[in-house]
Amino acid sequence: MSSNRPPLAIRMHPADNVAIIANDGGLPAGTVMPAGAAQGLVLRDKVPQGHKVALCDLAAGQAILRYNVPVGYAKQAIAAGSWVHERLLEIPAARELQDLPMATVKPPLLDALQGYTFEGYVNADGSVGTRNLLAITTTVQCVAGVVQLAVERIERELLPLYPHVDGVVGLEHSYGCGVAIDAPGAEIPIRTLRHISLNPNFGGEVMVVSLGCEKLQPDRLLPPGSFPIQDIRDEAKALDNVCLQDDAHVGFMSMLDGIVARAQTHLERLNARRRQTVPASALVVGVQCGGSDAFSGVTANPAVGYMADLVVRAGGTVMFSENTEVRDAVEQLTSRAATPAVAQDIVRELGWYDQYLERGRVDRSANTTPGNKAGGLSNIAEKAMGSIIKSGSAAIASVLPPGEKLKADQKGLVFAATPASDFICGTLQLAAGMNVHVFTTGRGTPYGLQACPVIKVATRSDLARRWHDLMDLNAGRIAEGEITIEEGGWELFRMLLAVASGHKTWAEHWKLHNALVLFNPAPIT
Ligand code: CA
Repeated sequence: MSSNRPPLAIRMHPADNVAIIANDGGLPAGTVMPAGAAQGLVLRDKVPQGHKVALCDLAAGQAILRYNVPVGYAKQAIAAGSWVHERLLEIPAARELQDLPMATVKPPLLDALQGYTFEGYVNADGSVGTRNLLAITTTVQCVAGVVQLAVERIERELLPLYPHVDGVVGLEHSYGCGVAIDAPGAEIPIRTLRHISLNPNFGGEVMVVSLGCEKLQPDRLLPPGSFPIQDIRDEAKALDNVCLQDDAHVGFMSMLDGIVARAQTHLERLNARRRQTVPASALVVGVQCGGSDAFSGVTANPAVGYMADLVVRAGGTVMFSENTEVRDAVEQLTSRAATPAVAQDIVRELGWYDQYLERGRVDRSANTTPGNKAGGLSNIAEKAMGSIIKSGSAAIASVLPPGEKLKADQKGLVFAATPASDFICGTLQLAAGMNVHVFTTGRGTPYGLQACPVIKVATRSDLARRWHDLMDLNAGRIAEGEITIEEGGWELFRMLLAVASGHKTWAEHWKLHNALVLFNPAPIT
């Protein structure tokens, strides 16, 4: 919002006793708020954009309500019109995981949405890809350099011959050796790698490059039967694996030639595929936020939530994640679970994560960043309330543990339990079978993934203007009254279908992508 616009404070719920300042650059002390929830209020302090202002006099110890939820308790008396910054707030204690309301709220059944389609690549197992990529799976980091050079050669020499293939992706990672591979928790990185190889955007063409002596052997990574798409074909069920230590390799060129030759077989099959019209129910959308500010929960995340409801109504799948960002909203999640068993699954995953954090002597409050706080988010309780809005309003149909893959019938709204770290969450959502990613940001991040298109949604118009060739959608228009949350949600839904059909996101246009980062709770040796 440009500074010549009238002063504006946004309140999220009629019961809230704070609102956030919407104007670019914030507002100076002495500003008289002309309209809305803060009408007549005089600012006692300069309040930065995205930060909270007290709408009434607050007593010491009083709950500070945003989204009608306590996001903190006043450490001292705070006069109306004051800047309510993080140093004035005591963070509320995390809700215990006992005696939670389990599946007590029955969200109204959403009307089915029919007639929406996209153009996708239908796989043998029924999943649908939004891109047609060759993936080269690796068992261990040791082979990463060789695979990188092989990928460059494939791009240069082979891809021009296979114009229907969108690209080749080396699935490099830091795992595979020097790790306690049988320790509790080690199953998470292993199954994550396995399931990423089977992401719908890779068309079921699994090829592996291994070293030979590593702990994570190819048949442990992908045991027979774990790559069902390939099993469906009549040909050899053996895993297609190039092993660098194989006696047959004499010299470096032999390794490279071996990988390139094997890639050719897969590229031929991928190149024969064409997009076809599929219902929107084939969407598997992962939603996430990163570099959040106080607008995340006002503009972008509510629009994503509306979009999530549209995808669920169309019969598709939406995953929301980020354990530390939903922990403070656990009551809202367990009560919205479709059944008590699903609510129990939420408690199990968040309880496991509490213990994981305790081992590191931290708790969920370690989540917030300096940028979050500069953007007006005082603490994790406030961040969580803005974060879970991304999940929309549907009942939570199921829960997915980290690194697991969605089953074909696992539709609707899914809580995929992952850390909130952008790269780790994205990596785990890829393993789950995500075919489009929606990512909201307030502070700004150039985040992208190679395996899957990432639609980036800006929470503020100022960011959207400055990062005009990085942000795909500007939800800041919601704060300015140009569009409603519903209109933003529909725009995003239509963009989802276009991107799923092959329209490139800005990150794809620039070939911007982050590394796969595995969640490994087990020890390194
Ligand atoms: Ca995140």
